[in-house]
Amino acid sequence: MANPSKRSLLEAVTDHGPLSRSELSALTGLSKAAITGLSRELIQDGALAESDVAAAPARQGRPSILLTLNPSYGYFIGASIVEEPVTLVLTDLQGAVLGQRSAPWSNDPREIAETIRQAVPHLLGGAGIPADRLRGIGVALSGLVNNDQDRCLHSANLGWLDLPVAAVIAGATGVPVFLENDANAVATGERLYGLARDFRTFTTVTFGDSIGCAHYVDGALYRGHGGGAGEIAHCTIEPGGLPCRCGKRGCLDTIAPRQAILAQARERGLAATTTAGIEALAAQGNTDAIQILHRAGGALGLAIAHVIQINNPEFVLVVDVDGALGPLFRTVTQQAIEANVLPRLAASTQIRFHQATRDLWARGAASIAAHKFLTREEG
Ligand SMILES: [Zn+2]
Repeated sequence: MANPSKRSLLEAVTDHGPLSRSELSALTGLSKAAITGLSRELIQDGALAESDVAAAPARQGRPSILLTLNPSYGYFIGASIVEEPVTLVLTDLQGAVLGQRSAPWSNDPREIAETIRQAVPHLLGGAGIPADRLRGIGVALSGLVNNDQDRCLHSANLGWLDLPVAAVIAGATGVPVFLENDANAVATGERLYGLARDFRTFTTVTFGDSIGCAHYVDGALYRGHGGGAGEIAHCTIEPGGLPCRCGKRGCLDTIAPRQAILAQARERGLAATTTAGIEALAAQGNTDAIQILHRAGGALGLAIAHVIQINNPEFVLVVDVDGALGPLFRTVTQQAIEANVLPRLAASTQIRFHQATRDLWARGAASIAAHKFLTREEG
């Protein structure tokens, strides 16, 4: 998006919009005259729109026209190859989901590219969007992605080692393609469109069949040296504990996620085959069910407490995928966080639990493409 001033204006509207021109001036440090000129260009270009509503009740003083992202300026497809099936969503620039499809899973980049190529006209046609308005495709996967977001450096789940996946998909679709780690995609989606919009330093923990974690530090995604930042699933919580699929022992992944809880329930001969069923048994006083949930929630809370101690986020968002976190589990997790974080840090960290559907990775992937489009350099 051209020059740095335009980009900072767009970033402010993305993060905090709708905003008046005076508010934009205060947020960006640009003069009101500069804001007036830049916003006129961005409105002509189609990126920004003026809202019809002249004044929000919370705003003081004279009513003013508010600027917002123009949702129809660009459309994005997000594809998740995190778990079966491949899930695709079409979103507008404000993150609204306009269409969804699923397709059989594959770990062959050419097959995935073909799946996406076939889905594009269905998604666009279903929403009545012209093909030239599709600005980018984001792909979420379990694994490490390089800084340019075009190569998958490693994915145990997909069996990939340093593959140029984005180029394969871009070659099939003719649209810019960006890859992202699944947890990072969720964090970016929450930062752009979701519950983390108002926070610059925050952590998301995605809890379902497995556990993902990602950090934003001072407004930017923190990848770490090799793209592996935030991998709390393989923090050792019980030294010498159960063997983990990563080769270590006692990782959080062996204790807390849905699959681990269900495995423990099977071992103890419980009748329940879902986490909701185990919660129901616990509510009836079943000791085994209570013990399993206490161990799992305690482990998750301890891992989150360590993250809070190390990173000091303003906000921790625990995203519960498809109702994996029942009431007892959630209570034990919260208590374990409170018991293991310094009181000063505990008081200054907002923690929120939020339930999401399984399309969260595809929505996150679409937000990656939208973010890239909004922050792109003009070619
Ligand atoms: Zn492990």
